[in-house]
Amino acid sequence: MAEDVDVVVIGLGPGGEDAAGRLAEAGLSVAAVESRLVGGECPYYACVPTKMMVRAAGLLTEGGRIPGMAGDAAVTSRWTPVAKRIREEATDDWDDTAAADRLTAKGVTLVRGHGRITAPREVTVDDRVLRARRGILLNTGTSPTAPPIDGLADIPYWTNREAVQATEAPGSLLVLGGGVVGAEMAQVFSRFDTRVTVVEAADRLLLNEEPESSALLKMVFEREGIGVRTGVKVTGASHDNGEFGLHLGDERLAADRLLVATGRRPNLKGLGLDAVGLDERARQITVDGHMRAADGVWAIGDITGKGAFTHVSMYQASIAVRDILGEEGPPAAYRAVPRVTFTDPEIGSVGLTEAQAREQNLPVRTGIAQIPESTRGWIHKVGNDGFIKLVENPEWGTLVGATAAGPSGGEILGALAVAVHTEATTAALREMIYAYPTFHRTIETALTNLAT
Ligand SMILES: Cc1cc2nc3c(=O)[nH]c(=O)nc-3n(C[C@H](O)[C@H](O)[C@H](O)COP(=O)(O)OP(=O)(O)OC[C@H]3O[C@@H](n4cnc5c(N)ncnc54)[C@H](O)[C@@H]3O)c2cc1C
Repeated sequence: MAEDVDVVVIGLGPGGEDAAGRLAEAGLSVAAVESRLVGGECPYYACVPTKMMVRAAGLLTEGGRIPGMAGDAAVTSRWTPVAKRIREEATDDWDDTAAADRLTAKGVTLVRGHGRITAPREVTVDDRVLRARRGILLNTGTSPTAPPIDGLADIPYWTNREAVQATEAPGSLLVLGGGVVGAEMAQVFSRFDTRVTVVEAADRLLLNEEPESSALLKMVFEREGIGVRTGVKVTGASHDNGEFGLHLGDERLAADRLLVATGRRPNLKGLGLDAVGLDERARQITVDGHMRAADGVWAIGDITGKGAFTHVSMYQASIAVRDILGEEGPPAAYRAVPRVTFTDPEIGSVGLTEAQAREQNLPVRTGIAQIPESTRGWIHKVGNDGFIKLVENPEWGTLVGATAAGPSGGEILGALAVAVHTEATTAALREMIYAYPTFHRTIETALTNLAT
């Protein structure tokens, strides 16, 4: 016997969990299907535990900056409190009972298992058939993926999921992939005295960010003793006598652990998308501005390809909820999606990079200013690396993108995100008063430096 509800949510990432709760609180009957943990990747394997790691690593480094500035300090790293915080405070030992209880308290029926669309407005979970009068909301997220390197599939490498469960920092670590996840993890473990080498096929770290961000991070990493190998081809991977190896032609890099951080694939396989006219081999599910993917199907989160961030998933959830409830509202706009790589310096950026703006054939002027040359940067002295880069469309007289790299770069980004989002003119931004002496005052210098 099928069970009739108003909405079935498949996958409870941050957006799906939020949407299911809000729809139930609005009076709809909601069944929410989850095959792993309620809340998805972010609270258990991604944002939250990794930022606890980053915070701990940052404390160690700040302690190490005391000599010459404020006295003496002997800082000894210990991974145990980090592992304990992640296990006890963040993930409840990877147990989602509290999140599941919160959801069911809102009136949502939680269905554990793998959801599959078996007909329009119908989802099957094992032998349970759920029929959705209004429709189905997809929030199935992504899983780590590894490149087709000889030998890699057969060895017990780490992904982000194993790295956040580490009970000790390894003696040495190879990080395959110099994107956001690889960069954050590399610096964290290095600061816990792990010998780290980052191996990246592209010719720079953080390929999706400004080249200045990549150069800055490489400089800082090398200064901190992290090996950075960019533009290299990995020809094989091995695991012998407890030691991992990455083969770069004739050269072999070895370490106690190997972290593969080379990207993610959308969880679309086995979802039954063909039953609603969608393609499960696609890289993403195409949605309109109201998150509609097909008749009676909405999709949110990483699977929509609009930015793999928790804040995008949550933003889309609110739009989908509104649409499912039949309420009017503006369509989603992505011109000011902010993103932060939580390294030290933090690399915060919003909107388009210079290269992306040029690819869109926009007229472009850029302005850059260095944080160490600002008064606050000079006062700060150590740990002051960074810059502000602005990307302006001079015809519109507005910013289409910006980067705030530096101490608290992700926080300074807030001002730039407001500017890009509200399409504030650069003329108006020049007239603003910037508090002295702050890091964000460097925005004013970058505005002065805007040139073709
Ligand atoms: C190491 C790391 C660090 C990150 N740090 C940040 C950060 O600092 N800030 C930030 O904004 N973002 C960060 N992200 C990205 C962030 O984790 C994701 O963007 C976020 O989790 C949103 O994903 P989602 O909503 O698409 O779903 P996910 O979180 O991926 O959850 C999808 C859920 O759907 C379930 N599911 C899948 N298929 C089915 C099915 N057929 N039936 C039932 N259930 C199913 C899965 O089990 C999962 O629980 C990080 C990612 C990683 C890997």
